[in-house]
Amino acid sequence: MVEQRLGEPGTGVVVTGGASGIGRACCLALAAVGRPVAAWDLDADGADATASACADLGVAAIGAGVDVTDASAVSAAVTKVTDALGSIGGLVHAAGTVRAAIDDVVDLDTWDVVLDVNLRAEAVLVSALLPAFRAAGPGSAIVGIASIEGLIGHGFIPSYVASKHGLIGLTRSFAHRLGSEGIRANAVCPGYIDTPMLAPTIATPEARASFERKIPSGRLGEPDDVARVVRFLLSDEAAYMNGAVVVVDGGVTAVGGQDALGAD
Ligand code: NAP
Repeated sequence: MVEQRLGEPGTGVVVTGGASGIGRACCLALAAVGRPVAAWDLDADGADATASACADLGVAAIGAGVDVTDASAVSAAVTKVTDALGSIGGLVHAAGTVRAAIDDVVDLDTWDVVLDVNLRAEAVLVSALLPAFRAAGPGSAIVGIASIEGLIGHGFIPSYVASKHGLIGLTRSFAHRLGSEGIRANAVCPGYIDTPMLAPTIATPEARASFERKIPSGRLGEPDDVARVVRFLLSDEAAYMNGAVVVVDGGVTAVGGQDALGAD
């Protein structure tokens, strides 16, 4: 059995998007410090694989195929997860999707899909999990995976940008509403992280290099770079962080998109 670290509550955490990329890394990072984990994803087999890797680290873990835009599926999954893991004291909403507006100024045909997964789902998830958070007592925490595109605009992905700006607003509203109950809500804004979502954008060496040039830290982020920050925000070590927007981007936004010094 893995040793529980100081400041790590023993409560379980629901991680959406848990089959892949940042969500999967969050599951593994949490399991590594003894937190029970539920990995939810459209990809049920991938979620099971993540849960099994977490269980190998010595924690209770459960994977499930859950479409986070389906409120009744989320409710049913909450019941199962509470039975399987006992108390639930954390949510990471990492499920996400992106669509490009190629021919038009906005991608109206896919607008609702993007907003539903990236933004509305967090409202659905928090509503469904609140009774469990309250039952677990003070110390529960919500982390929404936003994006640096929750802070800046991007002309080719307007629905994604709107969803991530919205997620930050929702986070701050939860912080206001739930803070007095000892439930915290924070958002993390990753920059360019090497996951299946970014893969098509960096498919050629030239494209990859053009991203890397913009990152003062000199490399793309790894999912675990984000997961360690998420784990901290879910822990009691971050007990006074509420409504915060934490950027994890290797310095991209800090320099306003300039090329990094020393880049070729
Ligand atoms: P990823 O590897 O594609 O993981 C996202 C996961 O969410 C996928 O397994 C996806 O399943 C799942 N998902 C999509 N719609 C869902 C739904 N309705 N219900 C349940 N699961 C669903 O991407 P990632 O890069 O790790 O992204 C994680 C989060 O970080 C996203 O919110 C993303 O916007 C954000 N982010 C990523 C980056 C980056 O550079 N990678 C930067 C900033 C922010 P399918 O593959 O089957 O759709």
